Amino acid sequence: MDKFEPKPGGRVDIMSETCDCYHDLDLREIFGCHVFNDSVMRERLPRETYKALHRTIQEGTHLETEVAAVVAHAMKEWAMEHGATHYTHWFQPLNGFTAEKHDSFLNVPFGGDKAIAEFSGKELIKGEPDASSFPSGGLRATFEARGYTAWDCTSPAFLKQDSSGLTLCIPTAFCSYNGEALDKKTPLLRSVEAISKQVVRILRLFGDTETKRVTVTCGAEQEYFLVDKEMFKKRPDLVFTGRTLFGCKPPKTQEMDDHYFGTLKERVSAFMKELDYELWKVGVTAKTKHNEVAPAQHELAPIFCTVNIATDHNQITMELMKKIADRHGMACLLHEKPFAGINGSGKHNNWSINKLDGANLLNPGKTPRENAQFLVFLCAVIKAIDENAELIRASAANAGNDYRLGAQEAPPAIISIFLGEELAEVLDEVEKGIRRDMNFRGKLDFGVPTLPEFQTDSTDRNRTSPFAFTGNKFEFRMVPSSASVAGPNTVLNTVVAEALCQIADELEQAKDFKTALSDILSKIVKEHKRIIFDGNGYGEEWVKEAARRGLPNINNSVDSYRAFIYEKSIRIFEKHHVYSSTELNARYEIKMEKYIKINTIESHTMLEMCQKQIIPACMRYADAVAQTILHLKETGLALDMQTNEEVLRCVTSNLSKLNRNVKKLEKAVEKSETLEEDFVAQAKFVRDSVVTAMQEVRKYADILEMSVGKDYWPIPTYSDLIYSV
Ligand code: ADP
Ligand code: MG
Repeated sequence: MDKFEPKPGGRVDIMSETCDCYHDLDLREIFGCHVFNDSVMRERLPRETYKALHRTIQEGTHLETEVAAVVAHAMKEWAMEHGATHYTHWFQPLNGFTAEKHDSFLNVPFGGDKAIAEFSGKELIKGEPDASSFPSGGLRATFEARGYTAWDCTSPAFLKQDSSGLTLCIPTAFCSYNGEALDKKTPLLRSVEAISKQVVRILRLFGDTETKRVTVTCGAEQEYFLVDKEMFKKRPDLVFTGRTLFGCKPPKTQEMDDHYFGTLKERVSAFMKELDYELWKVGVTAKTKHNEVAPAQHELAPIFCTVNIATDHNQITMELMKKIADRHGMACLLHEKPFAGINGSGKHNNWSINKLDGANLLNPGKTPRENAQFLVFLCAVIKAIDENAELIRASAANAGNDYRLGAQEAPPAIISIFLGEELAEVLDEVEKGIRRDMNFRGKLDFGVPTLPEFQTDSTDRNRTSPFAFTGNKFEFRMVPSSASVAGPNTVLNTVVAEALCQIADELEQAKDFKTALSDILSKIVKEHKRIIFDGNGYGEEWVKEAARRGLPNINNSVDSYRAFIYEKSIRIFEKHHVYSSTELNARYEIKMEKYIKINTIESHTMLEMCQKQIIPACMRYADAVAQTILHLKETGLALDMQTNEEVLRCVTSNLSKLNRNVKKLEKAVEKSETLEEDFVAQAKFVRDSVVTAMQEVRKYADILEMSVGKDYWPIPTYSDLIYSV
């Protein structure tokens, strides 16, 4: 056990001594100590092997099996030195979580009795997890259970630690026997290839003859809630669904803005500290932590990296948040809307395109040439988002986000882009081509005189936009807090690849590059400026204005998901080899079914809580009040009679309304189950009948919570929960 491990029995230590085991550790030493990263590979691999692997990682070249064999051996040695006995192909199936099946390095040659430790190149490269129970949307019939995991060497292997020790985790892609993607990782990797190819075409047009590939960068800011574990356990809705299905708004929530960036409570701070250290160990660049707007809400932001690694890191982050919260006697809620009436959680997906040397292509340049090139990328994004707004919206849709998008704090369900005043002015000039006649002042060959010179350091002043340009990157703020960022980035990469492809097609044919460029950009701005909006995205006004502009406003997942199977979407995804039509249809089906399942689980939970907890509790309370009334009558003390009778009337009348609505919900759930054959019809029914029936049930339960004595109420209230830590 190395010095970075918590002391033996560390869990207890950590809780009682508030992370003492981390006090004398230097973050520079601890960072990446559990990652088979570039430095480790350079140190442990023979030079030729290292170079070959490095080439594959950087340039996407094919990896020879001999190379894999050497890497596998080094990886195993390294893992075993840290105390690992098992490895796992770590993958991201379509259920949105990560999956692992552990195999030990153990081998006992036949006839022998001595164990040897083995890990072959073949085992590193390919796994057959027989993971037939993951959702595949019909991509894989269960009798053809074979699914393969394939090593993704662009995301480094790492050691995952729990109380039982360390396991070597090898990030992998997960495909069917026929090569269809069964996971979130494969399409993401394909989409990075797609955008890279188109970006390189644009770079060539601007005189860059060297760049062979570019990469996409992502920084995923993660919001979450922490509540006391004991309280959590007393709420079946939190346990089963991750959100509260009942609960009145407490007298005070976020009105005073006193939680946002406020002092961290000791318990939260201890949790955050351990989380940081555990993340650093596995190479996650946890950088910023703070309290968020709602009480009990917090945020963690990492330093950005390639989108592939950022996706893995975000999955690890979510997993560790839950695990470490548990160690500290808390539960971490990643749901988009754990509590009605107060802010929900999102994941701000910061996105940019980078050259491999780190040059950010969304950085407005210092020279006119760089600026012209920047404007191409900027305009491509604007075109891409406007042309595929529904698809972008769909990429951020899930059942939880339906309660968030369009509510007071979250971005609205309407996709628009915030650019800031300065860039908006620049685009105005681009549209008019007002500098068309000016002579080009510089000496650079590819500068376009008609395009304005500028340098922006325009900071983002608009927090209400779902898609904001923030200086040198776009921030997509709609992404659900619980979801993998793979999906939204896959869509984003692909639609931008398509826009760039169209621009490159035209520019490559142009006789006069400068005029063509100026015309193309001007046309893009003209056609797509409707999507640019710098005003208040939360206002009612914007909803009307957006409708006038013809921007889609889709307020639920069921309608939104259809965008995945629009003919236009299928064409783009197929053209860029990101998803086949079959893969898209499978995803559509899986998403719809997940929507149905989530709401079905929620309604069953609701029914159970009503029937087993809330209704009996209200009856007990009503009974007690009735007893009091009886007693008062008997003793002739008419003093509080009226109050008691009023309370009893209120409780019984709302109780009967609750009961009626419980029956209605029951019926709706039953009816929904009869529609199982047709997932589209079922999803629509769930949205229109089950979800609305749930809202009615909640309404009366919440009224009763206000009417019934605290001692009688069977579950912790919002006040108990959000002030529990
Ligand atoms: P905020 O959104 O709170 O203003 P920052 O602008 O500092 O915060 O950054 C938010 C996130 O954006 C961080 O995770 C950061 O690493 C990430 N980020 C910064 N630059 C880039 C980039 N070029 N590509 C992707 N993500 C980036
Ligand atoms: Mg942000």
